[in-house]
Amino acid sequence: MLTGGCLCGGVRYEISEPLVSSNYCHCTRCQRRTGTAASAQGRIAPGSMRILQGEELLRAWRPADGSAKVFCSECGAHMWSEDPKDPEIRAVRLGSFDGDPGIRPSARQFTAYAAAWEPIPDDGLPRFPERRPPGA
Ligand SMILES: [Zn+2]
Ligand SMILES: [Zn+2]
Repeated sequence: MLTGGCLCGGVRYEISEPLVSSNYCHCTRCQRRTGTAASAQGRIAPGSMRILQGEELLRAWRPADGSAKVFCSECGAHMWSEDPKDPEIRAVRLGSFDGDPGIRPSARQFTAYAAAWEPIPDDGLPRFPERRPPGA
Protein backbone atom coordinates (compact mmCIF):
# COMPACT_ATOMS: atom_id res chain seq x y z
CA MET A 1 0.00 0.00 0.00
CA LEU A 2 1.36 3.41 -0.97
CA THR A 3 0.53 6.33 1.31
CA GLY A 4 0.98 10.07 1.19
CA GLY A 5 -0.42 13.42 2.08
CA CYS A 6 -0.14 17.18 1.98
CA LEU A 7 2.24 19.53 3.73
CA CYS A 8 0.02 20.32 6.74
CA GLY A 9 -1.02 16.68 7.20
CA GLY A 10 -4.72 17.43 6.82
CA VAL A 11 -5.07 15.40 3.63
CA ARG A 12 -4.03 11.74 3.68
CA TYR A 13 -4.44 9.11 0.97
CA GLU A 14 -3.57 5.53 0.20
CA ILE A 15 -3.09 3.81 -3.15
CA SER A 16 -3.68 0.09 -3.36
CA GLU A 17 -2.04 -0.71 -6.71
CA PRO A 18 1.35 0.08 -8.24
CA LEU A 19 1.59 3.30 -10.24
CA VAL A 20 1.33 2.67 -13.97
CA SER A 21 3.59 5.38 -15.43
CA SER A 22 5.54 8.44 -14.42
CA ASN A 23 7.12 11.46 -16.03
CA TYR A 24 8.44 14.95 -15.59
CA CYS A 25 6.32 17.73 -17.04
CA HIS A 26 8.06 20.94 -18.06
CA CYS A 27 4.95 22.79 -19.25
CA THR A 28 4.36 26.38 -18.25
CA ARG A 29 1.34 25.40 -16.19
CA CYS A 30 3.38 22.94 -14.12
CA GLN A 31 6.04 25.59 -13.58
CA ARG A 32 3.44 28.02 -12.25
CA ARG A 33 1.74 25.36 -10.19
CA THR A 34 4.85 24.05 -8.49
CA GLY A 35 7.10 27.10 -8.53
CA THR A 36 9.81 24.85 -9.97
CA ALA A 37 11.21 23.93 -13.38
CA ALA A 38 9.25 20.69 -13.75
CA SER A 39 6.65 18.56 -12.01
CA ALA A 40 7.21 14.85 -11.29
CA GLN A 41 4.07 12.74 -11.19
CA GLY A 42 2.83 9.18 -11.42
CA ARG A 43 -0.35 7.90 -13.01
CA ILE A 44 -2.45 5.68 -10.75
CA ALA A 45 -4.47 2.64 -11.75
CA PRO A 46 -8.04 4.02 -11.99
CA GLY A 47 -9.94 3.52 -8.76
CA SER A 48 -6.88 2.55 -6.71
CA MET A 49 -6.77 5.72 -4.58
CA ARG A 50 -8.69 6.26 -1.36
CA ILE A 51 -8.79 9.52 0.60
CA LEU A 52 -8.28 8.64 4.26
CA GLN A 53 -8.85 12.12 5.66
CA GLY A 54 -9.13 15.76 4.66
CA GLU A 55 -11.48 15.38 1.71
CA GLU A 56 -13.12 18.65 2.81
CA LEU A 57 -9.78 20.45 2.43
CA LEU A 58 -9.36 19.52 -1.22
CA ARG A 59 -9.90 22.20 -3.84
CA ALA A 60 -9.31 22.05 -7.56
CA TRP A 61 -8.45 24.52 -10.26
CA ARG A 62 -10.29 23.39 -13.37
CA PRO A 63 -8.95 25.01 -16.51
CA ALA A 64 -11.23 24.86 -19.56
CA ASP A 65 -8.60 23.09 -21.65
CA GLY A 66 -6.92 20.60 -19.35
CA SER A 67 -6.98 18.41 -16.31
CA ALA A 68 -8.05 19.65 -12.87
CA LYS A 69 -5.26 20.48 -10.43
CA VAL A 70 -6.19 19.30 -6.96
CA PHE A 71 -4.53 20.87 -3.93
CA CYS A 72 -4.93 21.26 -0.17
CA SER A 73 -6.74 24.51 0.64
CA GLU A 74 -5.04 24.71 4.04
CA CYS A 75 -1.38 24.46 3.06
CA GLY A 76 -1.50 24.81 -0.74
CA ALA A 77 0.27 21.49 -1.38
CA HIS A 78 -0.23 20.05 -4.86
CA MET A 79 -1.78 16.60 -4.67
CA TRP A 80 -2.77 15.31 -8.11
CA SER A 81 -4.35 16.15 -11.43
CA GLU A 82 -7.63 14.64 -12.62
CA ASP A 83 -8.96 13.94 -16.06
CA PRO A 84 -12.05 16.19 -16.36
CA LYS A 85 -13.97 13.40 -18.11
CA ASP A 86 -12.95 10.65 -15.68
CA PRO A 87 -11.79 11.83 -12.24
CA GLU A 88 -10.50 8.31 -11.48
CA ILE A 89 -7.68 8.98 -13.94
CA ARG A 90 -5.21 10.79 -11.74
CA ALA A 91 -1.54 11.71 -11.81
CA VAL A 92 -0.27 12.07 -8.26
CA ARG A 93 2.64 14.39 -7.47
CA LEU A 94 5.56 12.23 -6.49
CA GLY A 95 6.56 14.67 -3.77
CA SER A 96 3.36 13.88 -1.85
CA PHE A 97 4.29 10.24 -1.18
CA ASP A 98 5.49 9.27 2.28
CA GLY A 99 8.11 6.88 0.99
CA ASP A 100 9.29 5.43 -2.29
CA PRO A 101 6.42 5.60 -4.78
CA GLY A 102 7.86 2.48 -6.42
CA ILE A 103 8.25 4.05 -9.84
CA ARG A 104 10.70 6.42 -11.50
CA PRO A 105 9.90 9.09 -14.08
CA SER A 106 10.68 7.60 -17.48
CA ALA A 107 10.27 10.61 -19.79
CA ARG A 108 10.23 14.39 -19.95
CA GLN A 109 7.37 16.12 -21.71
CA PHE A 110 6.66 19.67 -22.90
CA THR A 111 10.40 20.31 -22.98
CA ALA A 112 9.81 23.02 -25.61
CA TYR A 113 8.58 25.16 -22.70
CA ALA A 114 11.35 24.28 -20.24
CA ALA A 115 12.43 26.98 -17.81
CA ALA A 116 15.23 29.23 -19.05
CA TRP A 117 16.88 29.22 -15.65
CA GLU A 118 17.49 25.48 -15.22
CA PRO A 119 19.04 23.16 -17.81
CA ILE A 120 17.12 19.95 -18.46
CA PRO A 121 19.14 17.22 -16.69
CA ASP A 122 21.21 15.02 -18.97
CA ASP A 123 19.70 11.85 -17.52
CA GLY A 124 19.10 9.89 -20.72
CA LEU A 125 15.30 10.04 -20.44
CA PRO A 126 13.41 10.53 -23.69
CA ARG A 127 12.34 14.12 -24.24
CA PHE A 128 9.15 15.18 -25.94
CA PRO A 129 8.76 18.83 -27.00
CA GLU A 130 4.98 18.52 -26.51
CA ARG A 131 2.86 16.00 -24.62
CA ARG A 132 4.30 12.50 -24.20
CA PRO A 133 2.55 10.37 -26.82
CA PRO A 134 0.39 7.54 -25.44
CA GLY A 135 2.48 4.41 -25.02
CA ALA A 136 5.80 6.26 -25.44
ZN1 LIG B 1 -2.54 20.54 3.73
ZN1 LIG C 1 2.64 20.10 -17.06
